Amino acid sequence: MSEEKKPAIKKIQATGQMRKIMADYFYELDAAARDDSKKVAWCTSVGPAELLLSFGFHVYYPENHGAMLGATRMANDFIPVANAIGYSPDICSYLTSDIGSFIKKETPLSKAYEGIEGVPKPDVLVFNTNQCRDVQDWLSWYARELNVPIMGVSTFRNIGEMTDEVLAGIVQQIKDLIPKLEKISGNKFDIDKFREVLALSKKCTEMWRDVVETMVARPSPMSFFDATIHMGPAVVLRGSETAVQYYETLHAELKQRIKDGIGAVEDEKYRLYWEGMPIWGKLREMSELFIGLKTAVIPSTYCNSWIFNAFDPADPFLSMARAYTEIFIVRDENFKEKYIEDIVKRYKLDGILFHDAKTCPNNSNNRYGMPERLEKRLNIPTLTINGDLNDLRCYSEEQTRTNIEAFIEQLQAK
Ligand code: SF4
Repeated sequence: MSEEKKPAIKKIQATGQMRKIMADYFYELDAAARDDSKKVAWCTSVGPAELLLSFGFHVYYPENHGAMLGATRMANDFIPVANAIGYSPDICSYLTSDIGSFIKKETPLSKAYEGIEGVPKPDVLVFNTNQCRDVQDWLSWYARELNVPIMGVSTFRNIGEMTDEVLAGIVQQIKDLIPKLEKISGNKFDIDKFREVLALSKKCTEMWRDVVETMVARPSPMSFFDATIHMGPAVVLRGSETAVQYYETLHAELKQRIKDGIGAVEDEKYRLYWEGMPIWGKLREMSELFIGLKTAVIPSTYCNSWIFNAFDPADPFLSMARAYTEIFIVRDENFKEKYIEDIVKRYKLDGILFHDAKTCPNNSNNRYGMPERLEKRLNIPTLTINGDLNDLRCYSEEQTRTNIEAFIEQLQAK
């Protein structure tokens, strides 16, 4: 494919509405951080956010900020700043770019939203190590720097079967947060409020699942690259009506696209799975490359990570523990392979792309023979792309383009 040919990305109309609700969310957070009567909690993205919302906290997600740093490529300037204070270039580049950005007092939030000068100051920092240990180390830096209380849930990893014992341990840890959060928020725990928030999160998650599932259609109305952007409200606004309404709008638009036979990739010929983190600073280039190759990159572990089927307001603690522990990243290899196999079959995919993200071993599943095992089991090819979520020094555009083009030729030959 010639370099000059830039295939057009078909804009999803709901994008305008999404930008507006994301802007409202950040302005509200900013206002809360300046108002002594309001409290701000920072929470890891797959953490007990619903519990925090039930106490009235305004919840900010550092990983979302990390993704913004990657997407704007500001991360490149900030990673070395964190490296200089002892945070290795080999650890999570969300962590290093975010801490670097804080030290340099620069944030993409100020560029995107006039009047916002920095990230909202926290009253409490809450983590869940279900995804990795880095999140705890990340928030611990802020706890020391800002002298703010830190607490969280330590989740077992590499889980095969979800047993009652595993879940009981998580339930207890979530309950143990309550007295501390009561003290910081100044509010008594209210189980009805907790159920209410969880019910809204459940609706949000169901709508997001419906949105993601539209990609089963051929041609697919949306790509993985679109989905990484549109999952924003599911990450930061779950537990609110706003997120539910947004996904109703987006879902309706995608259903209409399916009815009209409009695909994200014109003349879609091949369909692929994306396993691993996005390369945030290269979303547009990647999207254009695949459109040019008539290839739809559609389902992904990453975007599916915000589908929490287990939420049940009737049993809020146990269901929340289950929802946040049964996610892909927590599970063992057998579970992960079966999960990918089911999706490959259901979406009728031709191949799998594995992103080996240099600084996130937790989301890089290519390192212990999984691609080879899946190739054999599913009789489809896989390709590993070397890169990173935020650190573009780990990514070679030329090399990747050549490898992807060769991979698509291999599919053609097949
Ligand atoms: S899962 Fe990976 S990208 Fe996410 S916080 Fe942990 S190390 Fe960083």
